[in-house]
Amino acid sequence: MSRPAAERREDLVALYKEVRACTRCPLHETRTQAVFGNGNAGADLMFVGEAPGMHEDQQGIPFVGRAGQLLDELLREVGLSREETFVCNVLKSRPPGNRDPQPDEILACRPYLDRQVELIEPRVICTLGNFATKLLTRSQRGITSVRGRPQEHQIGGRAVRIYPIFHPAAALRTPKVKEKLREDFARLPALLAEAAPAPAQDPAEEPPRADQLGLFG
Ligand code: URA
Repeated sequence: MSRPAAERREDLVALYKEVRACTRCPLHETRTQAVFGNGNAGADLMFVGEAPGMHEDQQGIPFVGRAGQLLDELLREVGLSREETFVCNVLKSRPPGNRDPQPDEILACRPYLDRQVELIEPRVICTLGNFATKLLTRSQRGITSVRGRPQEHQIGGRAVRIYPIFHPAAALRTPKVKEKLREDFARLPALLAEAAPAPAQDPAEEPPRADQLGLFG
């Protein structure tokens, strides 16, 4: 049984503060700031990317560079907006020079992502690219072979649909990948509708608020 949205949101704010002060891996020495993620604390749809880049590291908000602009554009095209989703990354700190995340960094950061999923309770998680996909599907199968096919997984005791899709940065480099990404986005509204909650059991429960977690504290 799900905890009240207001309680989960409070815990998410506490987690945000913990992540901002995190020193679990050496990336804290080179980052400007940790990038927790932002968006709707009770989102049905969550995006998980790889790691903050230069712009994200400077601004403290995920996907604010060119890949983020493409993400926003693709969302708009299917009638969704960033504000109704929650966006974060596998790593909360920028790897120097945007190198790939290392296994020990992923391991150190993983509890934060698991907790984010537990607290936000998304119904659909879009994993963007290989790192997020392999981590959340617990498989070594790469994005090219699994993209566009939703998988049912249990995370934090709940069924969640993981929808692996290409990373928008890869789509910026390769027009064919962008086409595939656009095709996969087109299926999102139907996927969300299929995963929609049953009618509310407890009408007294507050609806989740759409605060920007990256913008306070
Ligand atoms: N790429 C990512 O994976 N995450 C960001 O936040 C920005 C670019």
